[in-house]
Amino acid sequence: MKAKYVIIGAGPTGLGAANRLRELGEDSFIVLERHAYVGGLAASFRDEAGFTWDIGGHVVFSHYNYFDDLMDELLGGERLEHERESWVRVCKTWVPYPFQNNIRHLPKDIRWKCVQGLLPENRLQRQPKNFSEWIDYVFGAGIGEIFMRPYNFKVWATPPELMQYSWIGERVSIIDLKKVLENLILEHDDVAWGPNNTFKFPLHGGTGEIFRRLAARVEDCIHRNQEVFAVDWDAKKVTTAQGLEVEYEYLLNTAPLDLLAGQWLKQKDDVMVNAAADFSRNGVFVAGIGLDTRDHEVNSRCWMYFPESDSPFYRVTNFHNYSPNNVARPEKQLGFMCETSFSEHKPENLDQLMDRTVQGLVNTTMLEGKRTADLATKWSITEEYGYPVPCLKRDSALGAIQPRLEAKGIFSRGRFGGWKYEVANMDHSVMQGVEWAQRMVLAEPETTYSWG
Ligand SMILES: Cc1cc2nc3c(=O)[nH]c(=O)nc-3n(C[C@H](O)[C@H](O)[C@H](O)COP(=O)(O)OP(=O)(O)OC[C@H]3O[C@@H](n4cnc5c(N)ncnc54)[C@H](O)[C@@H]3O)c2cc1C
Repeated sequence: MKAKYVIIGAGPTGLGAANRLRELGEDSFIVLERHAYVGGLAASFRDEAGFTWDIGGHVVFSHYNYFDDLMDELLGGERLEHERESWVRVCKTWVPYPFQNNIRHLPKDIRWKCVQGLLPENRLQRQPKNFSEWIDYVFGAGIGEIFMRPYNFKVWATPPELMQYSWIGERVSIIDLKKVLENLILEHDDVAWGPNNTFKFPLHGGTGEIFRRLAARVEDCIHRNQEVFAVDWDAKKVTTAQGLEVEYEYLLNTAPLDLLAGQWLKQKDDVMVNAAADFSRNGVFVAGIGLDTRDHEVNSRCWMYFPESDSPFYRVTNFHNYSPNNVARPEKQLGFMCETSFSEHKPENLDQLMDRTVQGLVNTTMLEGKRTADLATKWSITEEYGYPVPCLKRDSALGAIQPRLEAKGIFSRGRFGGWKYEVANMDHSVMQGVEWAQRMVLAEPETTYSWG
């Protein structure tokens, strides 16, 4: 088999690329996908009890007109709009997010600890060298101890000393000490959600519906259940475990870059193999817990953060609030989607995680203890590649690998293909695929993804 463009992976990046190639009038392309389903980490699943689950809470934060227009075309009016509303569970209470602006909800001694850490003389006085120092520099020791350190370790499963902080950008709201004190003394709530802080979610089928519909546009070119395991960059050929051999002129890889650079290439290149070993990632276990509603349990929260050790999960999404169709009996059931990370730095016994998740819901008052035997469903999925960790060696690894691949007509983009967390959301991923296609066909420069 032969095609001008071969794309590994039918996730948002691969589908964005394939769809754009078709829009640009290019028909010689093939997408190889190892699973029977499309959408990658943005796929959704319907369980046997009739509940729909994403692979962790997915919310579209678009930065692009092209992406917005694509969503409109794919979903039209079949979307619901919600205000973002998130909370932090800490010290046996709920604090609205952003945490630092709402510390008035904490016990008094903890409030004082947070404020003390924020006083200028108690903050790190020089530029931070890593994410751990950045936490002290920006948030101070108090908020660091109560929220930032434990929460981030639970998410990243990586010590913050091993991480850079260049990825933070708009993701964490930075501290304004005056505002913190004003809110504390005048007892104001300062919440990140407001009239403009909304997101849209598919009415049916979860986040994955977006990508099922996108895939339908290029279905004739998608080869499902084809797992690439070898790439020969001289012969310009990829091979799948199922025995398919495909020749290409240009290859777009959206599967994990450490596998491509470290394992799949026939031509072993020590620089690339060593650089591939410098990448860092976590895995994510997602548990979907469904139960019948009791009136008092329904709240408007979208998602909640859990920094403390009374639960294994770092985040729970009230998935029933995203669409009534995410549960089997709309309005009558709840769907909690709970995410727990793991890594070499934070090993977890996956066999125990479902039970620990249910107990964690009890410990954090999300679930009454007596109801644990009465759940409507327990669903789970484990992803070995969850978050591409912005580790200290990441940029040098990308700088070693990407130019070598491109010199051979191989482009690696997307969440794990590009391994840059700061551009690893769905909108970024789709656009990396789109911009790659435009580069190939129109010779336009890519703007979302770069390295070095
Ligand atoms: C827990 C969690 C929460 C998230 N929350 C959000 C959010 O709120 N908002 C947001 O915008 N984004 C969110 N994301 C990110 C979002 O899922 C990604 O942006 C998106 O899925 C990345 O698309 P991709 O195509 O680059 O990679 P992937 O989704 O990983 O797709 C890669 C594809 O390649 C396939 N593949 C891998 N190896 C092979 C192989 N050997 N052969 C053939 N095919 C292969 C995979 O099966 C997959 O289909 C979240 C991700 C996670 C894990």
